[in-house]
Amino acid sequence: MERIYLDHAATSPTHPQVVEHMIPYMMEMFGNPSSIHFYGRQARHAVDEARRACASSIGATPNEIIFTSGGTEADNLALLGVARANKARGNHIITTAIEHHAILNTCKMLEHEGFEITYLPVDETGRVNVQDVQEALTEKTILVSIMYGNNEVGTVQPIEEIGALLREHRAYFHTDAVQAYGIVEIDVKKLGIDLLSVSSHKINGPKGVGFLYAAKHVAFAPLLIGGEQERKRRAGTENVPGIVGFHQAILLAEAAREQKNQQYRLFKDIMISVFVNEGIEFEVNGGENSLSHVFNVSFTGMHIESFLVNMDLAGIAVSSGSACTAGSIDPSHVLVAMFGKSSDKIRSSVRFSFGLGNTKEQVEKAAYETVKIVKRLAQN
Ligand code: PMP
Repeated sequence: MERIYLDHAATSPTHPQVVEHMIPYMMEMFGNPSSIHFYGRQARHAVDEARRACASSIGATPNEIIFTSGGTEADNLALLGVARANKARGNHIITTAIEHHAILNTCKMLEHEGFEITYLPVDETGRVNVQDVQEALTEKTILVSIMYGNNEVGTVQPIEEIGALLREHRAYFHTDAVQAYGIVEIDVKKLGIDLLSVSSHKINGPKGVGFLYAAKHVAFAPLLIGGEQERKRRAGTENVPGIVGFHQAILLAEAAREQKNQQYRLFKDIMISVFVNEGIEFEVNGGENSLSHVFNVSFTGMHIESFLVNMDLAGIAVSSGSACTAGSIDPSHVLVAMFGKSSDKIRSSVRFSFGLGNTKEQVEKAAYETVKIVKRLAQN
């Protein structure tokens, strides 16, 4: 059976070119970057080169990049690090109701540490209102954390406007760009972003590596305590092969960005035209400006659990378009924030997410299979 993978927003396959670059750093170039000798220098050089590539991909300088174990650690470091180092300046943080759990659960933890968190609502397309951000700001606000692009519906937030607003305020601006990075062109200085999280495994890089960009002027406390790696901001021997692979993945993502965006938009058009021609009822969630690789659709009267099992049996890997599992609806979920808890669209939403290697034929096949299953489930 030919399997079709349409769940790239969850994770993506490591590109062969990435693997090829990583292998020597597990075998002959295995040194610890902190060692003075030849082996150490080789590893340090590779980490420095990667740091330069990370920085230049977002318009930052290399000493503003801290390698982490992925998006979760980058988000944790941004929130906990800034909160703990700036407590004397204020105890208020602004975020949204639709952030990834790496942010939301960290905020819950900070509430226990005495911080006040404002969770901003979103509209029916999943966007926050810039005026709401402005109105929530107080003298005690030390950080605003708003994701760049949503992982489930793909909605892109008004990052430039929020960045411009925060230039006039002393609060730092953090954005989780785990989904947007590699799809949207990002220039942190132009956009007024002080902290930004990225993960390697979403862009055909290896798992377990990512980075946090933290502008020079940002004061934050480290999470990992130990030696003086990552310029005293994160202890522990760097994941050198992972960082080398991440570097390659960044180069690949940058070279392919425009082509990917065009292709993924075409994939969405193909799916929509199949659904329309076959006469099934559906609604696309997330609005016009969604990230190109994320396509979230609700099918009227369909139950997501049965749908996912049927798709898997047909060899097609997709995800539920909402964080709800049988019987429970996660109240922090983006579709709940968009449509309200009782909306039918929540239980019937599917997330298709595209990546390198997907073809028009695969997408067409997945669309026809979707139609078949939706129709079959509707009869039962
Ligand atoms: N933020 C967002 C928006 C994500 O989609 C993810 C991955 N699901 C993360 C953070 C966490 O990244 P990682 O898996 O690298 O920890």
